[in-house]
Amino acid sequence: MQVNLLDTPVEFLKGVGPKKGELFKKEFNISTYDDLLHYYPYRHVDKSKIYKISESRVEGAFIQFRGRVQSYEIVGQQRARRLVAQFADETGSIELVWFNSIKWIEDLLKERREFIVFGKPALFNRHWSITHPELIDPYTQQELPVSLHFQPLYNTSEKAKKGGLDSKTISKLMIMLLTQIKDVIPETLSDDLLAKLKLLPRKEALLQIHYPTNIELLNKATVRLKFDELFFTQLCLLKMKLITSQRVKGHVFSTVGDAFNAFYNNHLSFELTNAQKRVIKEIRADMGSGRQMNRLLQGDVGSGKTITALLLMLIAIDNGYQSCLMAPTEILAQQHYDNIKKQLADMDVRVEFLSGSTKPAKRKELQEALQNGEINILIGTHALIERKVVFQNLGFVVIDEQHRFGVEQRAKLWEKNAIPPHVLVMTATPIPRTMAMTVYGDLDISVINELPKGRKPITTSHLFEKDRLRLFGFMKNQIDAGRQVFVVYPLIEESEKSDLFALMAGYDVMAERFPLPQYAIGIVHGKMKPEEKDYEMQRFIRKETRILLSTTVIEVGIDVPNATVMVIENAERFGLSQLHQLRGRVGRGGEQSYCLMMSSNKLTSDSKQRLTAMVNTNDGFEIANIDLRLRGPGDFQGTRQSGMLDFKIADLIRDEKIVVFTRDLAKQLIEDDPNLQKEGNQRMARRLVQLMHRDQNLGMIS
Ligand code: ADP
Ligand code: MG
Repeated sequence: MQVNLLDTPVEFLKGVGPKKGELFKKEFNISTYDDLLHYYPYRHVDKSKIYKISESRVEGAFIQFRGRVQSYEIVGQQRARRLVAQFADETGSIELVWFNSIKWIEDLLKERREFIVFGKPALFNRHWSITHPELIDPYTQQELPVSLHFQPLYNTSEKAKKGGLDSKTISKLMIMLLTQIKDVIPETLSDDLLAKLKLLPRKEALLQIHYPTNIELLNKATVRLKFDELFFTQLCLLKMKLITSQRVKGHVFSTVGDAFNAFYNNHLSFELTNAQKRVIKEIRADMGSGRQMNRLLQGDVGSGKTITALLLMLIAIDNGYQSCLMAPTEILAQQHYDNIKKQLADMDVRVEFLSGSTKPAKRKELQEALQNGEINILIGTHALIERKVVFQNLGFVVIDEQHRFGVEQRAKLWEKNAIPPHVLVMTATPIPRTMAMTVYGDLDISVINELPKGRKPITTSHLFEKDRLRLFGFMKNQIDAGRQVFVVYPLIEESEKSDLFALMAGYDVMAERFPLPQYAIGIVHGKMKPEEKDYEMQRFIRKETRILLSTTVIEVGIDVPNATVMVIENAERFGLSQLHQLRGRVGRGGEQSYCLMMSSNKLTSDSKQRLTAMVNTNDGFEIANIDLRLRGPGDFQGTRQSGMLDFKIADLIRDEKIVVFTRDLAKQLIEDDPNLQKEGNQRMARRLVQLMHRDQNLGMIS
């Protein structure tokens, strides 16, 4: 019964009806009473103080007075027709003016004269007046569950306003709603927690968030509701993690054998960083534990995540298992394949490549070799996780440079074997801690927080069109010194003709500046066939071309150590993490490298901040934090779809403390009472079940 009332379609609320109900759904995604209840105001107007008219002589603020209408008259014609009333308290008087609803106001004034008046005083023709003030009857003592001292303001849209859903109407509907449901709002936390953390009860918080009695209670309500959102998100994530680790056994990688040792001792051309060694240890321990590993590997651009993953794949081979490595683009997948194949050339390890463009005959051959276990490592794109790709014994999956590889896609991998493979997700650039805890909250996290020795920090500059000749001169010097140059053009959508045009126009300019034969230029963009892209990449890698013009198809992962200059055209059009990722394409060898960002002179404040951040720091973790602050979590590196970040009131940036606190709390709780069966924990269990079923992704796993 209780649940039913909150599930009532919003159109049944008095004053809503089918039309507004439809608008609620379309414009605000509100279908039920419960949804409306969680549509929080963005701000409140303080109506708690009653001003004297004599103190009102400041423009701009909404304030209220209490007094009496002394007289009124209707003046003007047609559109200028208006009702003007003289309103006074013991300190002075002010004019009230209405252009609309004149008849209605007149009738009201015939009946009574005492009011509380709310509005924004303005000086007009040397008279202070308020246009369209709100009149409040000071004597009606309505039976309301809330105080009206603060007027809530709700976000709305042009469409919604046209259909009658302005902020004021929503605030009135909210009173109606709160009156009806105040007794059925369930508590979700145990009494213990409420007392220990001194949190407001949920019902109180939901009433106060809309119509607070005072600022202090509004703040408490805000804290309580943020806490709820973050705490239950963490509880969901940890519960999922627990379910998988309990239900899902993992392959045990107990030995380190010939493949790993041979490679480590004979083929590794550099010393691993301490961070790489530590991470390999962490992961080995995890893969030997008997439970399935689900881990996120964070590391800045160039920190050497690939080699780390390769060593772990060799351990999988030593234990008799196959591995796969999945990359987000064909170019990157191909590069991984070429590199790894080369590195493992004189070892008895079979490495193959599979992507969407693999020909049917080859695909068939691969499929057979996969199934009879001849292939040890399969590298490719999303094509790897298609259902029809069947392995003999897939033990380890590495997902490179992905933020978007969420819970759902990982679940897909589990179907591939009776015992699911260990999964390692590697990020393209670091993500801030609160994000990692939330988007990847069901994963364990390893961090490579050290770059290989001998790397020189990349020098980053911000240039304008007037600097172009200087830029060309600089490129020429670097090329003459034997280095190579990337020039990247923005591309909002790969299909946009104008962007391709910019790339081609850029090519013409470059071709003139950098004539053959000594300055061959290559070009790569999204419209090319995979073979063509690969051909161009290979020419660049072999130094047959000295300049590579491209769109963002080379954004992630590409590793050409001889390239020392990254020129980014229209840099203001790129996101911050994208810029950092592009910059990471250089500085991979021992030579000093440069990132040169070209932009127009007119910049928005946001793009200015992005470019400044790039010039000021090379640290990806710092960049990630700035990016999060500038963009907000909803828009952060393609995490939008994940649903995990759809917070109504919590904010991963400002509420970092609550995120961390609720994470720890949820962890303790789950450790102490995994099934939330203990006395007092049932409320939380109920809420958790409700949330897990609501969220499709999570529900699929629970
Ligand atoms: P990312 O973490 O961005 O994916 P990569 O794995 O592409 O970085 O590594 C960047 C470059 O650094 C590669 O050329 C790789 O061979 C090299 N590298 C990796 N680890 C080390 C190390 N410990 N010492 C020196 N070079 C390394
Ligand atoms: Mg990489």
